[in-house]
Amino acid sequence: MPISPTLDSAPRRLFVTTALPYANGSFHVGHIMEYIQADIWVRFQRMRGHEVHFVCADDAHGAPIMLKAEAEGITPQQLVARIAAERPKYLEGFHISFDNWHSTDSPENVELSQDIYRKLKAAGLIYSRPVEQFYDPVKGMFLADRYIKGECPICGARDQYGDACEVCSSVYQPTDLKNPYSTLSGAAPVLKTSDHFFFKLSDPRCTAFLREWIGDRLQSQVANKAREWLDGEGEKALGDWDISRDAPYFGIPIPDAPGKYFYVWLDAPVGYLASFRNYCAKKGIDFDAFLADPRSEQIHFIGKDIIYFHTLFWPAMLKFAGYKVPDNVYVHGFITVSGEKMSKSRGTGISPLRYLDIGMNPEWLRYYIAAKLNANVEDVDFNPDDFVARVNSDLVGKYVNIASRCAGFIAKRFNGRLLGHQEGSAIIAEMQDAAGSIRGLFEAREFAKALREIMLLADKANVFVDLKKPWEVAKTGQPADLHRTCTDALQMFRLLTIFLKPVLPMLAASVEKFLNIGPLAWADAGALLPAEHRINAYSHLMTRVDPRLLDALFESDKEAPQVNTKETSSTPHPATPAKSGVPVAHAAAEGHLTISIDDFAKIDLRIARIVRAEYVDGADKLLRLTLDLGALGARQVFAGIKSAYDPASLEGRLTVVVANLAPRKMRFGLSEGMVLAASLEPGSAKGGDAPGLYLLVPDSGAQPGMRVK
Ligand SMILES: [Zn+2]
Repeated sequence: MPISPTLDSAPRRLFVTTALPYANGSFHVGHIMEYIQADIWVRFQRMRGHEVHFVCADDAHGAPIMLKAEAEGITPQQLVARIAAERPKYLEGFHISFDNWHSTDSPENVELSQDIYRKLKAAGLIYSRPVEQFYDPVKGMFLADRYIKGECPICGARDQYGDACEVCSSVYQPTDLKNPYSTLSGAAPVLKTSDHFFFKLSDPRCTAFLREWIGDRLQSQVANKAREWLDGEGEKALGDWDISRDAPYFGIPIPDAPGKYFYVWLDAPVGYLASFRNYCAKKGIDFDAFLADPRSEQIHFIGKDIIYFHTLFWPAMLKFAGYKVPDNVYVHGFITVSGEKMSKSRGTGISPLRYLDIGMNPEWLRYYIAAKLNANVEDVDFNPDDFVARVNSDLVGKYVNIASRCAGFIAKRFNGRLLGHQEGSAIIAEMQDAAGSIRGLFEAREFAKALREIMLLADKANVFVDLKKPWEVAKTGQPADLHRTCTDALQMFRLLTIFLKPVLPMLAASVEKFLNIGPLAWADAGALLPAEHRINAYSHLMTRVDPRLLDALFESDKEAPQVNTKETSSTPHPATPAKSGVPVAHAAAEGHLTISIDDFAKIDLRIARIVRAEYVDGADKLLRLTLDLGALGARQVFAGIKSAYDPASLEGRLTVVVANLAPRKMRFGLSEGMVLAASLEPGSAKGGDAPGLYLLVPDSGAQPGMRVK
């Protein structure tokens, strides 16, 4: 049978992106949810034969990355490169089919951002004015609000951030704080004036364009929000956008303005175009011609927290710089876990890497998330029991079950050959008819509805098999009836596979192999496997979810990688309870091992800079570290972290050390302290000295020798 991605509509040219993740940390499950949503839509469009270019990039600039890199004693570029290096593990792991992954810290982005700026300036939409802001005289830099703390001007609570009090909930300006201090250096900030550049979003040309652009293209909730901002009055009036930051800043220099850089949020969305241009150059696609083609569509998948940037600034920037404006922005909600919002600080949520590491099938998650996604801006809840029930009942119990009950008879009794198709079951025709409505649901990102419709069809296929009872016919009935039933069931299974393929690409590939056919396209639902078609032997397609896997998935979060002191030698830590297998934190929680604050005060914890890190001849686990403890001088420490760190990557970084541990004479020399690292307890899946060892890093601003308490 000819299998080609024949088009059932005019060919589309699609340029699709997901939001650029900030390159100061690993992906969390929220990122993965967005990528899965976009990937399903993209794979669906590819299956329809459309031209699709699906790109993303690391969002690399800004003060947080600059400061984090500084704290680790590395360059921002090194930090971004380290984060970028771990991206493929996640993306490949969850079968996210980006065509290109790039960085906003790239020549393409510099050129595009500066070009857009110059054109906005020429259009009279850029101006500058002096701005008075807190400045850290020790660090020599202006302070964003998040780096300023002080006493609440209303209730006097200490250590409150510059925008709001967590104690009395008052909202104020950073300049209202009493006794403000810089969280970077501890110094009292001073007010200092500097010229900032602004994008004139309030210009009537911008607001008129945005009203027209919003039109009826956006989701209603998103359009309402955007109009509310556009129509704001008085205090809520639409303001202009401060697009500049002063040096030191990790970003793109503003042309003709020495010492000024683009605010990270200006060049971040430009990264969509930078990644696409980078991809076009590699593939020989004409970037400018693609964007100039009126048939081309530019679509951004984003989360609800960045609507403002994507429905106001971004389209206006592009419009008045003479670039193509987005055709749509598809907004999704957040992912919650058992009804609770994820929180990095509390360590709840699902670790995508742990999900993969413990051997959970990525397509279970793709299916589960798809089964909960619709076109509205609604949060998606991950509920472990629901996850197990849904995957086992739908994917294994309904879908895979059809093939597993019928394939064996075709192989054993009929030499792998299907019957010629005359007057098959009416259910086959019903499935073929449903291709149109399911297609419409995928197009509209109504994935939950699409999967419900597909599973209703799977139910019908199962009822068909239940009624025909091939296992009984095989014993006592006519071979022709058995052949008919099993052929029909496999035709149904193939049609269901077409519909599920955007969600389950790997499973679909296994089915294509089993059915001995080429890659299924959407239009293939219009035809059936031909008479006498020969299939391959059936092998198991998907296992059921063992609920214990969910326990393992959440284990790490409940017990949060514990802060675990790493001995400087390989001998057991004296504080480890004798009863093996009982994690220290457990014992403490049960009251067996609590200590008083006085006990804790005996431990002298200090910030240390790793000046040198070296391999030790003859030592399997140890690195020799030379530490700078500020006023306490230099120390030599042997740390059991060789399995997790390349010595070169440690030099210059800050960590935490137990400074008053009695020196130990070791085979390799004297160890004068102990560095702290987090890991799972021995005996757990990744315990001991296996990978999964994380040196503590203090927040930026900490200096060698500072006491930790
Ligand atoms: Zn207060």
